[in-house]
Amino acid sequence: MHNLALRYYNGEGTEKDLGMAFHWFQKAVEKGYERSMHSLALCYENGDGTEKDLEMAFHWYQKAAEKGNEKSMHNLALQYYYGEGTEKDLGMAFHWYQKAAEKGYEGSMHSLALRYYNGEGIEKDLGMAFHWYQKAEEKGYEGSMHGLALQYYSGEGTEKDLGMAFHWYHKAAEKGYKRSMHSLALCYENGEGTEKDLGMAFQWYQKAAEKSYERSMHGLVLCYNNINWLEKSAEKGDEGSMHNLALRYYNGEGTEKDLGMAFHWFQKAVEKGYERSMHSLALCYENGDGTEKDLEMAFHWYQKAAEKGNEKSMHNLALQYYYGEGTEKDLGMAFQWYQKAAEKSYERSMHGLVLCYENGEGIEKNLEKAFYWHKMAPDNFKINNLCKECNQLYIDYKWCQQCNIKQFQQDFSKWTSKNKFIDKFIQEAQLNAKSNYEVLEWIPYNKLNNINYYDKGGFSEIYRAIWLDGPIDSWNFDEQQWNRWTEYEVILKNLNNSSSLSDKFLDEV
Ligand SMILES: [Zn+2]
Repeated sequence: MHNLALRYYNGEGTEKDLGMAFHWFQKAVEKGYERSMHSLALCYENGDGTEKDLEMAFHWYQKAAEKGNEKSMHNLALQYYYGEGTEKDLGMAFHWYQKAAEKGYEGSMHSLALRYYNGEGIEKDLGMAFHWYQKAEEKGYEGSMHGLALQYYSGEGTEKDLGMAFHWYHKAAEKGYKRSMHSLALCYENGEGTEKDLGMAFQWYQKAAEKSYERSMHGLVLCYNNINWLEKSAEKGDEGSMHNLALRYYNGEGTEKDLGMAFHWFQKAVEKGYERSMHSLALCYENGDGTEKDLEMAFHWYQKAAEKGNEKSMHNLALQYYYGEGTEKDLGMAFQWYQKAAEKSYERSMHGLVLCYENGEGIEKNLEKAFYWHKMAPDNFKINNLCKECNQLYIDYKWCQQCNIKQFQQDFSKWTSKNKFIDKFIQEAQLNAKSNYEVLEWIPYNKLNNINYYDKGGFSEIYRAIWLDGPIDSWNFDEQQWNRWTEYEVILKNLNNSSSLSDKFLDEV
């Protein structure tokens, strides 16, 4: 029965079925089978195959503990300690920890040491705490190694011995115990129990911080602020430090900006296979930062980083294919890399994909897919690229032709050049404008300032002036008027005979 229940519990040789597991554990317990008592208690504690019931869990842990099951003794102690399924009782907790520890259960040995150390359920006794940490350590328990180190460090329950403290911090840290990693970093930082070594301190802070140990993150921030630490760690061959050091030189943070040094350390990190540096190295080659500009090398490293899944590199690789920089122009490849980066939610690549599908570049034109990728893009992208009035995609930077046409038409009656031919010409330009650059406007003379003679052109004299309102940028929905580039310098032409305008002149316009 017990083995059948275990099969159901672990899904071995049959479908996992916690209800059946519970059923058979219960049957076995009814027959007085001791090993099933602990399992039944576990089911009650976790709500496996039955309603969670901490009192029933307590009941069966107690039964099994009385029959000598050490895991049940430990769990019973925990229930007493936290007051779960029974009244909180530190004395009883201590009693059961001790029983289980004496039977060689390492979790209880560690807990027992802690109870002695803190004086919980028993008189505080640092010597006994040390004794039980030692016992648990012998069984490979990392937390107890840390406890031993702490006691050696402060000379509690044993002779103060920084060398031994360092030894045990090191053991526990190597086994992945994050509090020891932090303490070890401190030992290296202050030269306690070992030679002072800032590079090693930095590396252990970093390891602990990677395990999201907040106190080490603080230590790490302090290290990052100290360029000497980064340098020492980088020189010792730590690739993360190389990358961060390069970034420092690149941005001139905490040191003089030095693109040559930035390039040097990015390259070193890349040689060690550090992926994040590949993208940075490519950027250096693309912009000629700290090295000769070399688009082919940029392409090479963007490709490497893209293949490792770096979405910024995917995007830049797509751009190089798109414009034929550092490689043959290949719209199909540009499309493919845009798509890869877009699938990783890289916003700019989504925009690239929208344009590819809209214009049929590198892929068959497909407006549905263009709109799909437009919809997939994050909200801020959508807000910036959808007309607030009609909710259609802008066709150029903040340019909705169908809505802007209405704004222009409403103003047709508000201006005139007093020449029907010119009025018509300007109106048509406004109605056909596909971006703000294509807009023409009639500017009244009183909107011009600082008019100065400049030169003489083919048909006319040329003047410079400041146009106070300035050219149209985009429609402002909130204020219901055009956003403009105010106080804009313009070129004026003074026509000798404006009543007989020729096509030639308008071509020149
Ligand atoms: Zn619109």
